[in-house]
Amino acid sequence: MADGSWYDADIDHVIISEEQIREKIAELAKQVSADHADAEGGILLVCVLKGAVMFMADFARALGNHGPSTEMEFMAVSSYGQGTTTSGVVRILKDLDRDITGRHVVVVEDIVDSGLTLSWLMKYLQSRSAASVEVVALFRKPDAVKVQVPVKYVGFDIPNEFVVGYGLDFAERYRELPYVGVLKPEVYARS
Ligand code: 5GP
Ligand code: MG
Ligand code: MG
Repeated sequence: MADGSWYDADIDHVIISEEQIREKIAELAKQVSADHADAEGGILLVCVLKGAVMFMADFARALGNHGPSTEMEFMAVSSYGQGTTTSGVVRILKDLDRDITGRHVVVVEDIVDSGLTLSWLMKYLQSRSAASVEVVALFRKPDAVKVQVPVKYVGFDIPNEFVVGYGLDFAERYRELPYVGVLKPEVYARS
């Protein structure tokens, strides 16, 4: 373990590398910046905790290279339990701290799977009178195309597997991985 990290032994295979993530975020930031060049009041980034926390930090820094200015808000909603299957229920665990009337909102999402969380969240933000609401999602799974969620900016389309890393957890662990990968089957058997 001297040269590796504790988690490398738990990973079956890497899906998206650290470098791929870095390059993609730079691209996404360029696009979002260009599309919001005239956004009055700049961009209000709304991070969906906890999974999008790494993406939020890196994406905001990348946007900073281009502009316009950004502000950050954090929301927490729950749709998944401790395991790997959706509960189908969306609950607000932490709401916005302030009014978003007239603001240009960009929702920063880790991954769109069923799209359930996101479609609910977009309706919620629109009902709060934002000037515009767009979504940037770093990852998207195949099921997401079945639901009507207009995700304007997508980083990577990934296979329909449960992934961890770069903010994404299994039972609250593995968020700190710099890449995104699939766990070995024995990890699930252990828990
Ligand atoms: P959705 O509502 O689109 O099905 O997904 C809601 C949330 O479930 C995502 O924002 C994400 O936090 C979590 N999620 C979906 N797929 C995965 C996955 O493959 N791995 C992990 N760790 N979380 C996932
Ligand atoms: Mg999420
Ligand atoms: Mg989770």
